[in-house]
Amino acid sequence: MADPSCIFCKIAAGEMKAEVVYEDDRVVAFRDIAPKAPLHVLVVPREHIETIGHTQDESLAGHVVITAASIAKREGYGDSGFRLVANSGRDAGMGVAHLHFHVLAGRALSWPPG
Ligand code: 5GP
Ligand code: ZN
Repeated sequence: MADPSCIFCKIAAGEMKAEVVYEDDRVVAFRDIAPKAPLHVLVVPREHIETIGHTQDESLAGHVVITAASIAKREGYGDSGFRLVANSGRDAGMGVAHLHFHVLAGRALSWPPG
């Protein structure tokens, strides 16, 4: 169910280069091309789902989130902390319309977000 115009589908299919840090049959995680923190990884489902609001698949959604947290811990940020962000739609500033969780860590992250 890949969207041929979607860059994250292309990365998930191995058709576009990315620094992949984890992958399995359902998800791919790769470093953001323009990192906003010392750790900035994106976790995406292989399946093209537009936003977290476009799926009822709790198993897949849970797997994306658990994978994201596991990467933060594996990269050494389990104690210092990390943030998972899923921008969804225009007002959230979503730039790539393929469900993704940002994993951000390695510096103090301000709150509230802009
Ligand atoms: P959004 O704004 O949709 O929540 O986040 C999209 C993220 O994808 C941005 O942080 C942006 O830097 C990242 N990004 C956009 N294009 C590419 C790309 O081709 N490769 C990688 N690795 N990241 C990308
Ligand atoms: Zn896609």
